[in-house]
Amino acid sequence: MQHYQNYIDGQWRDAANQLTVLNPGTGQPYATIAQAGIDDADLAMAAARRCADSGALSDVRPARRTTWMLKAADAIRAIADEGALVACRENGKSLNDARDEFIEAARYFEYYAGMADKIEGISVPLGKDYVDFTQYVPFGVSVQIVPWNFPVSICARSLAPALAAGNAVVIKSPELSPLAMTLLIKAVEQAGFPQGAVNLLCGQGSTVGSHLVRHQSTNQIVFIGSVPTGQRILKDAAERATPAVMELGGKSAAIVLKDANLETLLASVKAGIFFNAGQVCSAMSRLLIQRDRYDEVKAAVVALAESLSIGLGEDNPDLTPVVSRQQQEGILAMIDQAGTEGAKILTGGVAPDRAGYFVAPTVIEASADMTIAREEVFGPVLVIMPFDSEDEAVALANGTDFGLVAGVFGEGLNQTLRVANRLRGGQVYINEWFAGGVETPFGGVGLSGFGREKGQEALYSYVQTRNIGIRLGQG
Ligand code: NAD
Repeated sequence: MQHYQNYIDGQWRDAANQLTVLNPGTGQPYATIAQAGIDDADLAMAAARRCADSGALSDVRPARRTTWMLKAADAIRAIADEGALVACRENGKSLNDARDEFIEAARYFEYYAGMADKIEGISVPLGKDYVDFTQYVPFGVSVQIVPWNFPVSICARSLAPALAAGNAVVIKSPELSPLAMTLLIKAVEQAGFPQGAVNLLCGQGSTVGSHLVRHQSTNQIVFIGSVPTGQRILKDAAERATPAVMELGGKSAAIVLKDANLETLLASVKAGIFFNAGQVCSAMSRLLIQRDRYDEVKAAVVALAESLSIGLGEDNPDLTPVVSRQQQEGILAMIDQAGTEGAKILTGGVAPDRAGYFVAPTVIEASADMTIAREEVFGPVLVIMPFDSEDEAVALANGTDFGLVAGVFGEGLNQTLRVANRLRGGQVYINEWFAGGVETPFGGVGLSGFGREKGQEALYSYVQTRNIGIRLGQG
C-alpha cells in the first residue's frame, strides 16, 4: 500500500500515527497517510506565521504571485490523470469527475493569478487638506478546513485566492479523502512559493482541526463542511473573534413550471442529484413540480433513476459508491425514517447487492413537513412533491433553514426570472442545474453559511481593508 505524508514548512513529513484510507468501491484498504497530531499542527502554524510575518508572500510585487500561481496551474494540469486515479480510489468518485476536479483546481489558480495584481484600493476625497486611500491587506495566516466530497477542487477554491491575496495557508484535509490533496499540494510546491506559504495536514477534525481553529496564529478561518461542525467552529472562533467564511450544507429545490422542457430538466436532475452519488452541497435534493405536469415528470424521473448504471469510479458509471459505510448507513436510515413518516419510496431506497458502499438511486414522494424534505441527506436521494401556484412553489423552496442554491425550469423569461428573484439562496440556476463555474460567486444564506467563494468577489474574503488618512501640512 502506498503511504502519503503531511506537508509542513516546505517538507514532506511523517507523524507519530497514521490513518488507513479505504476504497469505498470495494471497502478494502487503499493507502495510508501520516495522521497529524497537535505538535504537527503547531509546526505548520509556526511555519505559516513566519512566512506571513516575513512578507515573502505579501510584500513582493503582486505580479510575482501571479507568476507563482500560473506555474502552479500548469503543474496541477500536468498531474490531473495521476491525481484522478487516486481521487477515484480513495473517494469512490468517477475517474472523469476526479479528473475534472484537478482541471477545476488548475482553473482556480489561473483565475486568481489574474487577480493577484489587481487588488486595488480607492482614493477617498476629504477636501484639499487631506489625502485618504484604502488598501486591501491579507489577513496573515488562513486556516482552511476541507470536506471529503470534492477535496481537490474545494481545496484549490480557497487556497488560490488566499495565496493571490498574500496569505500563508494551513490546510486540514478530510480524514476520509486526504490522498489526492497531497498530489495537488505537490504540484503547487513546484511553483516555488516561499517556504511555509502552504502547509497541509491530515488529522482528526475534533483534535487537530479544532486546535487550528483556536490557534493564536490563526487570522482567518475558511470552513467547508456540515452545519453542526460549522456551528462548533463559530463558537471556537468567537474566543479570538477570528473572522470566518462558512460554506455549509443545503437542501436545495428546483421548481418545475408547467412549461418546462422535459429533456432539459432530466439532464439537470441526472447531474443535480446523482452526480458524485448526490454528495454535493449544492445538490438538487428537492424537485417541486407544477401539478399539471406532476405525473409525467414523476414517471420520467423514476425512469431516469432506474436507468442509471452503477459501478466503480474507474468505469465512469452514472452512479458511484458513497464515501464510507457510515455515510451509506446514514443515508439508508434517513430513507427508512422517511417511510416511517409516511413518505412513498418510488424507486431505490436500498443498498444494491454488491461489495462497496453503494446506495441505489432513490426518488421519494414526500410532503414538506417530513424530515426527508427538510434535512440534508448527502446521497443520491431526490424528494419530489407537487405545487399549484407560483406563491406555493416559492414558499416550499424557501421553506427550509438552508439557503445554498435553487433552480427554476420553464420557458418563459418573465416567469422564470420573477420566480428566481424570490428564491432564497446564494445562487439561482435557470434551466441548468450547476450553471456557472470558477468565475461565479458561490455561498449560502441561513444555515448554509455566509461569505462567498469563487468569482472575483471571493478574493475579498481573503483581505481586510486598511484606510490611510493623511493630513497635509503647509510646508
Ligand atoms: P464535516 O463537518 O463532518 O467535516 C468537514 C471538515 O471539518 C473535516 O475536515 C473534519 O475533519 C473537520 N472538523 C470536524 N470537526 C471539527 C472541529 N471541531 N474543528 C475543526 N474542524 C473540524 O463535513 P463532511 O462530512 O466532511 O462534509 C459534508 C458536509 O459538507 C455536507 O454538509 C456538505 O453540504 C458540506 N459541504 C459544503 C460545501 C459548500 O461549499 N457549501 C461544499 C462541500 C461540502
